[in-house]
Order: sequence, then C-alpha cells, then structure tokens
Amino acid sequence: MSLMTYTPPLPPFAGICTFARMPFQPTPSAVDVAILGVPYDSSTSYRSGTRLGPRALREQSLLLWGYNNALQISPFTALTVVDAGDVSVVPVDILATHRAIESTAESWLNAGAKLITLGGDHSIALPLLRRHAAVYGPLAVLHFDAHPDTWDSEYPGQKYSHGTPFIRAMEEGLIDREAYIQLGIRGPTSGPQDYVDALHLGARMITMDEFRQRAMADVIAEIRQRIGTRPLYVTFDIDGVDPAFAPGTGTPEVGGFTSYEVLQLVRCLVGLNCVGFDLVEVSPPFDPTAITSILGANLVFEFLSLLARSRQSSPAGL
Ligand code: MN
Ligand code: MN
Repeated sequence: MSLMTYTPPLPPFAGICTFARMPFQPTPSAVDVAILGVPYDSSTSYRSGTRLGPRALREQSLLLWGYNNALQISPFTALTVVDAGDVSVVPVDILATHRAIESTAESWLNAGAKLITLGGDHSIALPLLRRHAAVYGPLAVLHFDAHPDTWDSEYPGQKYSHGTPFIRAMEEGLIDREAYIQLGIRGPTSGPQDYVDALHLGARMITMDEFRQRAMADVIAEIRQRIGTRPLYVTFDIDGVDPAFAPGTGTPEVGGFTSYEVLQLVRCLVGLNCVGFDLVEVSPPFDPTAITSILGANLVFEFLSLLARSRQSSPAGL
C-alpha cells in the first residue's frame, strides 16, 4: 500500500467538532435534518451558562457510534443530517435573538428540513414553536421539564424569559390545547397558583409524583393517545432529569427522571408525527464530568432515530 493513498478514518477525538461529525452546512438546503445551535442564556432566572450548551453537546456527540439498538436504525445513514452551526444571537436583546431564531428556523423549514435545536435557555422554544406552527398549524407539544414555564412574567413587565415561553405560545395559539403534555414537573414553587395557572392554560401536567405512582407503560399509552396523529414538537429541558444524572443546568430540582427513563419516554414516540425537537438548558459550567451533555447528545441521537424510523415507515418520506 502506498503511503500516499493511506487515509484511515479519523478517530472520534480528532478533527473539527460538528454534531456527530456531520457536515457543517450553514446555508439552508433540502436535507432531512439540520442540527442548529442557539447559544443564548440571557433569560435564565438563576445560574446561567447554557450559552455554552451547543458547543458541549457537539463535543459529547462524538461518541455516538451510529446504530440505535433500541430502535434498530442507523439515523446518520438513513437521513441526510447536517450541522447548521449557530444562530447569530444577541446576548443583550432577547427580542432580537428571537427574530434571528425565527429567521434561521424559517429558512430551514422552508427548505424542507426538520430542525433539532440545541439550546441555550428555554426562552428559545417560543420562536421555534412560532415557525413550526406556521408550517404545521397548532402543535401537539411534549414538554419535558421540572418547571411548567407558564408564568406570566418572572420580572415585572417582562413577557419573555425562560420561565414564560409556554404561556406566550398558548396565547399565540401555537399549541393545540388538547395535546399539550408537561412531563416531570416537581419542586417548590411560590405557591399553589403556579400549577393551577398551568392547568388553566390547558396543560396536561404529569408531575413526577404522578409518574412514580403509575406504570410507565400506562403513562406512555396516555401520551401516545393524546398526541394521536397531530404534528408533534418535543421540547426537552434537561432539568426534567434528576440532577444526579444531569447536574449541568441552571435551575436544578431534585427528584426527577433517571437517564434511562427519559430515553424510554423519548423512544416511545416512535411512529408519531414528530416535526421538531429542541434540547435546552444544558449548562456546561455546572457539568464538570460532562455527564449532562453526554445525556443531551444521546437524547438528540434518539430524536434523530425517531425521524429515521418515520421515514422508514412512510414511503413518501418524512
Ligand atoms: Mn426547567
Ligand atoms: Mn424549562
């Protein structure tokens, strides 16, 4: 063998880091899936750091070998996947940031791609829901979180922050009230009204207490029944997971899901009409062993696998 032609594949720890070493493609095009970073954390209410989330998730994605044994699919082979880079966020201006997210998301969705967005704090879900609802109509939303994020405002007069995206989305008619499910809600609040307000908005709130009291198969059956054939947007706040498994986040709440439980809950969506995903609130400064971003990268792998399975079962494509 000539040394001139000897080009072994790069090992996972080498090379320039995109998500799972997928091609860097910042210009919207007709790929199956674009993975988009939103390094914005100026609307967190406690400790920040999620602006570094997309970078950490990309780094920890390098160990995703490619075949999903649980869902029996190789998403990177079944789909054309690109890393779309990061949105041009404006750290001092949430409205300008939201406009930039909407503009970027709209371009990709118009090109025919599906988006998996890496946060960033949870405020970024609102502009993403706007663009997805513009394409698909009111969305079924599966919302993993310790917190309902349906406060009217966290700071007087401020309508937009990481604790308000879902009240705004409900007000704007982006979510189908019959199919808005919150999973993993727990922890102290300022009073009972916090949960009452979320329920009045129409959320089906499955608290951690309820989840622990029921069989997982029963919860999964309810989720699938409520969503049915609606277009489904999955928004995953990593603080839905217990801080023992995901400490790298800004507002941790003890008593949450295990890593394995959330993998199972995401996999149970196979066959549903998934149209978009986000994975938010990973804060690398509080994640010294990278355990949180490893889990986050694996959740993105599950999202990709769901999209790959949808394509497999529908000859017309995604
Ligand atoms: Mn949360
Ligand atoms: Mn949240």
